[in-house]
Amino acid sequence: MRLYTHPACLEHDPGPGHVELPARLRAVLHALDHDRFAALDRVEAPRATREQLLRVHEAAYVERVLAGAPLTGTSQLGEDTPMSSGSAEAALRAAGAVCAAVDAALTSHAHRAFCAVRPPGHHATPAQAMGFCLFNNVAIGAAHALAAHGLKRVAIADFDVHHGNGTQAIFEREPRVLFASSHQSPLYPDTGSEEERGVGNIVNATLSPGDGTYAFRELWQAVLLPRLHAFRPQLLLVSAGFDAHHADPLGDLRLGSEDYAWITERLVEVARTHAGGRLVSTLEGGYDLGALAASASAHVAALMD
Ligand SMILES: [Zn+2]
Repeated sequence: MRLYTHPACLEHDPGPGHVELPARLRAVLHALDHDRFAALDRVEAPRATREQLLRVHEAAYVERVLAGAPLTGTSQLGEDTPMSSGSAEAALRAAGAVCAAVDAALTSHAHRAFCAVRPPGHHATPAQAMGFCLFNNVAIGAAHALAAHGLKRVAIADFDVHHGNGTQAIFEREPRVLFASSHQSPLYPDTGSEEERGVGNIVNATLSPGDGTYAFRELWQAVLLPRLHAFRPQLLLVSAGFDAHHADPLGDLRLGSEDYAWITERLVEVARTHAGGRLVSTLEGGYDLGALAASASAHVAALMD
């Protein structure tokens, strides 16, 4: 199993006091330095190409991200997404990691990968930065699997505490992509109701503030996993956000790191049953450093099994 990352992903600096800070990625990488992860095949993430980005983002928006960072300090792209001088390079490596992992999953024996990258991606829409996200990494990876590898069925599972509104917006009229998401409601970005179904390819399942292990597992068992199996994906992508952890400051759910091991095992089962084991996961949210490190470790350990 591969681990894709790049030092540039540490150089995107949203400024003092911001929760989406470089220390998040440092905490994940430090945890994955442990002996039990020695078998991980560590790969430096390439930059996404313009062609890869333009499959999901408008050209003018791509230019704004690539040209938009100040030399010093931070500027705002959209309402809530800061950029620093290192942001464009970090965003290119984050999206490039997912595309490279998709290439490896489809053309080599490296069927599984975790992309330890930031900025996260699932809130970014075709023309808008949102929720600390610049490029929609998982969507760029899915579009790459369709366009460059000719896949007909790509599924995206998203267990971040927030709804992946950007991913949904990008694929809501694309029947070759199934988007299955569990998230807390009400919560930012206030999308993702069960009535939002796209062309039958969007499956939203909501949790209420205070919900924990039982409700989360029940929702995946009863609603989301059956839809993933019925879709028979040729490749499974995962938006792995760990902010539904009970210690996370942004969400009000009550998951523990063992729940992330559980959902990962179920998703690996989907990939093994339909996709020849091909599963590419990418880091989204998770804002308590200790909880993030423990949860990402549990996730990667389950991916390696
Ligand atoms: Zn989140």
